[in-house]
Amino acid sequence: MTTEKVEVLIIGSGPAGYTAAVYAARANLKPVLYQGIQPGGQLTTTTDVENYPGYPEGVTGPEMMMDFQKQAERFGTDVRFGMITKVDFSVYPLKAVVDDEHEIEAQSVIISTGASAKWLGLPGEERLNGKGVSACAVCDGFFFRGKDLVVVGGGDTAAEEASYLSKLASKVYLLVRRDEMRASAIMQQRVERAENIEILWNTETEKILGENEVEGVRVVNNQTGEKQDIPAQGFFVAIGHKPNTDIFRDYLDMDENGYLITKADSTETNVPGVFASGDAQDHVYRQAITAAGTGCMAALEAERFLAAQEADLVEGTPTIAMK
Ligand code: NDP
Repeated sequence: MTTEKVEVLIIGSGPAGYTAAVYAARANLKPVLYQGIQPGGQLTTTTDVENYPGYPEGVTGPEMMMDFQKQAERFGTDVRFGMITKVDFSVYPLKAVVDDEHEIEAQSVIISTGASAKWLGLPGEERLNGKGVSACAVCDGFFFRGKDLVVVGGGDTAAEEASYLSKLASKVYLLVRRDEMRASAIMQQRVERAENIEILWNTETEKILGENEVEGVRVVNNQTGEKQDIPAQGFFVAIGHKPNTDIFRDYLDMDENGYLITKADSTETNVPGVFASGDAQDHVYRQAITAAGTGCMAALEAERFLAAQEADLVEGTPTIAMK
């Protein structure tokens, strides 16, 4: 296995990763960024992005991510296609393995691996993604103004998405698979009070109707077995997200859902030199602009960390005492 030494390793190529790269590259830290399995991240699955400042006419998700990449490369970021498959944060320099065949020794690591929406696994769900099927109300809700929509899920995400969509859509059906919601009381109240949200309890989706775009949903009551077709133009799956943090499990503090825990007002993790940004550590906002913000923070903190390391080395007392 070949080994390479880098100052800043950035894992992930969404808004957090590329923003971290722009800042780190401009600070002359020669960042190396691995794009992961989906270069550009979750935004590449979105059609139009209209809420990212700086694009007054809107932009497609893939175009925007190409812009991010170009900007990161312009200042010298080494953007590479590849997947970090393993890390070892119990040693310093920090270690990461690319595609099981190349080892990196990094003085600092910025994690921006993002999260992936969970899907139901229904036939047609993938085919109609972007054609009425979505997992992001804030991204896509605007295109369904005045339409009838279905939201699936019973947690805070589903409650939030249903509330958000109810302000745009003419009617929102919320499909909850049990006879109660998991969502917090306040979020549930918000849903229950909205005049145009109808909650269908004990209800699961059997089929998404429509060939080239969503035309409706066939649902089944899991208590009575009764089926019904609900005409709808949008189908929002809101059954949670899964942060892409599995490979860090042995080293980094995370909550019970796998979101990396960072210190207050910081992107510092529990391992010195490792910083976490974007959706891998943020389950609340999950927006491109907030991810970019924390990517910027991570790069500035990595820069500060490396400067402190260098100062310590000059004085001969390394800061890092690893576990
Ligand atoms: P949760 O895991 O809390 O909820 C997932 C929901 O989806 C549950 O109601 C679950 O049903 C349902 N579900 C799961 N799989 C299926 C399926 N196959 N078919 C139908 N329904 C399904 O995820 P969330 O994303 O809602 O929340 C994650 C975390 O983020 C929580 O801690 C939440 O509080 C937090 N959050 C906070 C927000 C806020 O404070 N504003 C906003 C959004 C999230 P069941 O209950 O039967 O398991």
